[in-house]
Amino acid sequence: MKLFKRILIANRGEIALRIIRACHEMGIETVAVYSTSDKQAQHVKLATHAICIGEGPSHKSYMNAARVLSAAEIAGVDAIHPGYGFLSENAEFATMCENSGFHFIGPKASTIMDMGNKISAREIMKAHDLLPVPGSDGAIQNLEQLDQWANKIGYPLIIKAASCGGGRGMRIVRNQSELHHAFEDARLEAEKTSKDPSCYLEKYIEEPRHIELQVLADHDSNVVICGERDCSIQRRYQKIIEEAPGLDIDPKQLQDLKEKAALACKKIGYFGAGTLEFLYDGDQFYFIEMNTRLQVEHPVTECTTGIDLVCWQIKIASGFRLNISQDDISTNGHAIECRILAEDPHTGIPSPGKITQLILPGGPGVRVDTHIYPQFIISHEYDPMIAKIIVHGTNRQHAISRMLGALKELTIEGISTNRDTLISILRQDWFKNQNIHTHSLSNNMEKLKYEITS
Ligand code: ADP
Repeated sequence: MKLFKRILIANRGEIALRIIRACHEMGIETVAVYSTSDKQAQHVKLATHAICIGEGPSHKSYMNAARVLSAAEIAGVDAIHPGYGFLSENAEFATMCENSGFHFIGPKASTIMDMGNKISAREIMKAHDLLPVPGSDGAIQNLEQLDQWANKIGYPLIIKAASCGGGRGMRIVRNQSELHHAFEDARLEAEKTSKDPSCYLEKYIEEPRHIELQVLADHDSNVVICGERDCSIQRRYQKIIEEAPGLDIDPKQLQDLKEKAALACKKIGYFGAGTLEFLYDGDQFYFIEMNTRLQVEHPVTECTTGIDLVCWQIKIASGFRLNISQDDISTNGHAIECRILAEDPHTGIPSPGKITQLILPGGPGVRVDTHIYPQFIISHEYDPMIAKIIVHGTNRQHAISRMLGALKELTIEGISTNRDTLISILRQDWFKNQNIHTHSLSNNMEKLKYEITS
């Protein structure tokens, strides 16, 4: 078995760098693609080769499958790594890669399609013993069906779009009077975001934790679960702080979930890296969706398990067998990741611009995954996440104090960031006491805003 010789990275920013570094370690050549807005980007400088594929707006470059494939053709690569976002969960793109003779670093296109639709993902996982949040059977076709399901499931409800991500097309409904309007609203947003207006209903779980399992699987149906992560600290359904392992979960219940999850992945013929996401109400785990790609928060798993997920993802795609069994996987200490966003800390509005000064943290147990450097210009065209600070400590308390130290060391000037908000969150008693759920942040936002101003 041989590793790929040359990989094209269909992405930018910190994740492109992460993949370039993994390839470098494995002796694989890298081909970066970039937009005209990213001429000065680090991934362009660090890759073995770099090809400009279009203008700044992502549909003209990073999201443009034809241009990415032309670059792959010109560069003569064996495989394409999509990273996260952009084309990473686009089944059509995965098929185009394979039809053009390039390995797509991810699972089968049909798996991406099945899991890309939250309704089919719910049905498939339910058939394999992973309980979804109670909800409607399939998409809601009309208002009459909507009323029937709403009465059956009971309030509060959440309307969810089948084909959207990033919190798009979601509406919480607390009573009947809001239902029809919220449904129309969600459908419109879904149509606009994903061209698929299909929406379904789920029971709205009050104050759950977001717990997810990291999957690694090879082409021979060897599946391992590389531990769990808690991603409950969210703002507008977007994760901001992630940790591993999970907090205060009954070990037997978690073990049972992991076994069922591994079996489900085996049954659906999953291969590559992936994440199964659940809501945990302190009693039950409810499946919500599967992401068929690498996650932003993968480093906390890497820190606690010692497994290099990106290297494994590439090895598996090259045809290597997993030589780790479930019994080999153990977790060590506690890891926390904070997402540094270029935004106004009060309004959350993106804050693009030139970085005039940058001091990055360091020291034992501190990892910084970032593409920024002094004088780099943060473009308004891309995601505002500009860095991930990841710390690993002997236990959670140790990790929190390491993170506080790292965040205090971090200096970014020229643009606004959420650094101070993160510091403030880490100091809260509810955070320190593990009293967290998906609304902890929104419930405490006013207090946090006050703290960062005073
Ligand atoms: P997306 O793909 O848009 O990220 P998810 O289905 O992964 O959407 O859910 C994102 C977040 O939305 C969850 O982590 C949770 O905070 C919230 N959420 C989703 N479904 C429910 C639900 N049924 N009850 C309560 N919160 C939910």
